[in-house]
Amino acid sequence: MRNNTVMSRFMALLFVLPALAALPVCAATDRGAIATIPMIAEPLGVESLMGPGVDPHLYKLTRADITKLVEAPHLLYCGLGLEGKMLDAFARLAASGKPVTAVCEAAPKAKRLQAAGPVGAADPHLWMDPVLWAEALQVTAHRLGLPVPEDFGQLDAYARARLESIPAPARVLVTAHDAFAYFGRRYGLEVVGIQGINTESEAGLRTIEAVVEIVVTRRLPAVFVESTVSDRNISAIIEGAAARGHRVVVGGRLFSDAMGPEGTYEGTYIGMIDHNVTTIARALGGRAPARGMQGRLAAHDH
Ligand SMILES: [Zn+2]
Repeated sequence: MRNNTVMSRFMALLFVLPALAALPVCAATDRGAIATIPMIAEPLGVESLMGPGVDPHLYKLTRADITKLVEAPHLLYCGLGLEGKMLDAFARLAASGKPVTAVCEAAPKAKRLQAAGPVGAADPHLWMDPVLWAEALQVTAHRLGLPVPEDFGQLDAYARARLESIPAPARVLVTAHDAFAYFGRRYGLEVVGIQGINTESEAGLRTIEAVVEIVVTRRLPAVFVESTVSDRNISAIIEGAAARGHRVVVGGRLFSDAMGPEGTYEGTYIGMIDHNVTTIARALGGRAPARGMQGRLAAHDH
């Protein structure tokens, strides 16, 4: 009896094998695909190479990462220069025949922003605009046969309403590096990044003085720190403003190039943007519920 069951299972397997062989080999649907940054990985339901709090501009692949990438059936990365230290490895993987997809480059060229620095450099921080991000993710999902993520319409409407409640003169976002240009364009905020688009460049004294000037003349109540970037420059801004008689505080810690801890609401793409929108709106004098769009944000000390 038992042998019969084993035999029938074996026969069933033989029957199924040719069908499996007919499936496309490189489809990412088996969830074995791996994405560099969690902002790509989480909405598409694939594994993330980088964890919370990691700066993708500076991250260098470890030996274990390389093994993971070699074994994964598909690699998804942002591109547009974000993963500066990894591009050589990605090029080698692509040359070896590995399917490699640059998700940020799936967004239409006309909707991309240029970086403020060297001419021709693109700004890779597309995920800061939920509508543009949905577009890039959806194009990628369709192409690779992954589950198609939602359009983030509710998130976009919440962000617009909350950020428009900030009094007009204070609609200025001063933060550590230039990650928020797409965010500012979408929601009508002036964005002042102290460091360039890339966290490798150092902010000079002249830049600090220029930012202090903006903070003081616009009477800004708050500036922001980021989860992946050093607070040093922001402290210099606060001290510089104080020396000129204007008190400005740290309005909160924003997620720019990484999301919150895994397993938390802030560790999802929607939670990350909800956190940023809610923190910015409240610190700059706008109206937003303390626990955010869905009442799910962690309580904050700011
Ligand atoms: Zn960045």
